Amino acid sequence: MNFAHLCGKKRPFMNLLIKNGHVIDPANKIDEKLDVLVTDGKVAKLGKPGSISANDTQVVDASGRLVVPGLIDMHVHLREPGFEYKETIATGTAAAKAGGFTSVCCMPNTNPVNDNRSVTEFILAQARSAPARVFPIGAITKGSKGEELTEMAELHTAGCFAVSDDGKPVMSAAIMRRAMEYSKIFDLLVISHCEDSSLSDKGVMNEGVVSTELGLRGIPRAAEDVMTGRDISLAELTGCRLHIAHVSTAGSVRLIRDAKSRGVKVTAETCPHYFSLTEEAVRGYNTMAKMNPPLRTADDVAAIKQGLKDGTIDVIATDHAPHALDEKSGEFDYAPFGVVGLETALGLTLKLVDEGALSLSEAVRKLTNNPAAILKIGKGTLAVGSDADITIIDPDIEWTVDASEFKSKSRNTPFNGWKLRGKAIQTIVRGR
Ligand SMILES: [Zn+2]
Ligand SMILES: [Zn+2]
Repeated sequence: MNFAHLCGKKRPFMNLLIKNGHVIDPANKIDEKLDVLVTDGKVAKLGKPGSISANDTQVVDASGRLVVPGLIDMHVHLREPGFEYKETIATGTAAAKAGGFTSVCCMPNTNPVNDNRSVTEFILAQARSAPARVFPIGAITKGSKGEELTEMAELHTAGCFAVSDDGKPVMSAAIMRRAMEYSKIFDLLVISHCEDSSLSDKGVMNEGVVSTELGLRGIPRAAEDVMTGRDISLAELTGCRLHIAHVSTAGSVRLIRDAKSRGVKVTAETCPHYFSLTEEAVRGYNTMAKMNPPLRTADDVAAIKQGLKDGTIDVIATDHAPHALDEKSGEFDYAPFGVVGLETALGLTLKLVDEGALSLSEAVRKLTNNPAAILKIGKGTLAVGSDADITIIDPDIEWTVDASEFKSKSRNTPFNGWKLRGKAIQTIVRGR
């Protein structure tokens, strides 16, 4: 596939020498102090500190810093076209860059839905001048209504690497089966939003003690688990590559672990809020803690951390879901589901590393090489010759989340005021 259409305006490439950084590139088993030379937008050379000399090169001193492949978020909502008051491709990718992400994959639940070539092409055109790369995900069914399959051949040719009806489940198992058979022809990844809507049925938070105490309608964990189980069975039947979005329950972790052990082609992601928070965050009718799937229990959080550690969960993605403040400040029952995540994901992941739940290299892998390999987008590595998408992280900088400073157009985060350690200080896209 030709990526020229994804590139920004032609500017002469600046050559760059990133010196003395701690380079972590899990794809190449690199975890040591190295210099990295970037020429013409590509990684040109890696070598021991001081071993690379170059003329006409801007030097970046990365002493005490981590130098990693540009972070990839395979699950964001950029809201354009149709909901530009929440986010645009420009503001969403600015938020991505601020958070250390060089590539994002945008879900198709825009208006119109990205279910045909013209919407995909519009997104790619808007992304041409964006500060981060954008990989559009096409819809599984027309209008994401769960009824009629999209023309996946056309979506694939237009530049989609995956299909999903995210935001909604594909409720008919028969349609999901056909979708998997069809997508397999083009080796398109199918990303499943696992929710049985007959079980989640107007629920607004996790079903349990807290929902009872608050008098809010609950969404049982089974609403997610039965769909995870169904789609694993369908992936097994069809041989399709299935990716489970935003895993939030211990049950889903168990099902995915079992499926992987049997060789089913299934991968999975979770989001920072599912390993950082429980349903307790909803108390006080906090709409910033309202998301779908909902925050679960401490047992689920423990299972997700275990799933991340043992490789059951391959990816950390944000499910960045911007909403305007006036939408989120209404009554809990009516507030929309979703939180922004691009500017807090790295700090929350590094917190997991600080707690010892995940090694630094495994954390980097789940934010770089794993999503790239699952999507087959040829990124997430610092191998010589690869695109120079690089994130430089200060692992020691302590900072407080201040939503008013977000580059995102929206501020709906449950992490406002949290003290975090570690932040991206330079996000290099295409060597710039
Ligand atoms: Zn979803
Ligand atoms: Zn989503």
